[in-house]
Amino acid sequence: MSAAQDLNGLKQELVAGAAQVAGIGLVPLTQGNLSLRDPQSGHVLMTPHDFPYDQLTTDDVLVLDLAGDVIEGRREPSHESQVHLAVYERRADAAAIVHAEPIYTNLFGVLHKAIAPLHVGTLIDVRGEVPVMPFAPSGSRQFGYDMLEVMGDRNAVVWANHGMLAIGDSLAKAIHCTVMVEISAQLYHMALQHGEPHQIPQRYHGMLVG
Ligand SMILES: [Zn+2]
Repeated sequence: MSAAQDLNGLKQELVAGAAQVAGIGLVPLTQGNLSLRDPQSGHVLMTPHDFPYDQLTTDDVLVLDLAGDVIEGRREPSHESQVHLAVYERRADAAAIVHAEPIYTNLFGVLHKAIAPLHVGTLIDVRGEVPVMPFAPSGSRQFGYDMLEVMGDRNAVVWANHGMLAIGDSLAKAIHCTVMVEISAQLYHMALQHGEPHQIPQRYHGMLVG
């Protein structure tokens, strides 16, 4: 396959992934954004700023270099593109990123309370509890660097008062991680109505997250 065909395949993957997360209510209306790294060029494919997911096509996808310059695309780049680029710069294991706005995750985001990985799938995906990045405007590279400090080697982080971000070694994995964070947030909230939830014992963590 030619590089152009490969690039088009990645654009299709991004559009399909965006439709999936929109379809399950993780990015209401035009909120959030998704990106993935082109392993051939090192460029980043990303959804545009404030664009309805139900109208998104491959023509709307932006291709950016690691500095954030537009290589391809006619739409306005996401204002959070520098955050995604900071992740690709610093995390070699990141092939895709989802910034979503799930409601139960946002509940913990407004409480500034880390989400316990109550479900075993969340622990495996995230590699621990989901920490909270203190509130700051999210339009800069520095926000990305500060967020990565908070994340450590985790694959997800809550943004205080503003959604969450998840990393994966594929877009499917980043979406899976996003869903598992929201499931643990929902479980955590519901369990707290009944008492103190039991955590997965620490002695199993190393075994589960490898
Ligand atoms: Zn946002």
